Amino acid sequence: MLRSPTATPSPTTHRHSTRPGPKIRRLDFLSVEHIRVELRFAASASSVPAAQRHALYPPAPAYFEFACPFGDCDGAFDLNGVASPLLMNSNPQANGTIQCSGSRTCSGMTRQPCNLRADYWITAQYQASSGPKG
Ligand SMILES: [Zn+2]
Repeated sequence: MLRSPTATPSPTTHRHSTRPGPKIRRLDFLSVEHIRVELRFAASASSVPAAQRHALYPPAPAYFEFACPFGDCDGAFDLNGVASPLLMNSNPQANGTIQCSGSRTCSGMTRQPCNLRADYWITAQYQASSGPKG
């Protein structure tokens, strides 16, 4: 029997939704002045990472992905899907909980799932379209 050398068992969960179509329409960014992102971490361990605040200015490439605060974790919090409705002006704010999907090298040799949970708040500040600016 022939066995393919590329047959590697991959138990990793693929939660990647590849949606076709345009990434983000640039016109939609024009009315958003900036986006504030706040992350508060709720670790079950004794050490809880400090809360983070981010401000993104959509005319620049906005990328809502924040690395896990644990230095030994390879995960990140991907809020692109959450933030995109705000950029589309359909919602001024969003909040919820997201969990880190990375893994940490806790005891040196074995990698363990991080599962760090973070409560997030995203607020979009829209540009005022009325009145001339001095
Ligand atoms: Zn993590």
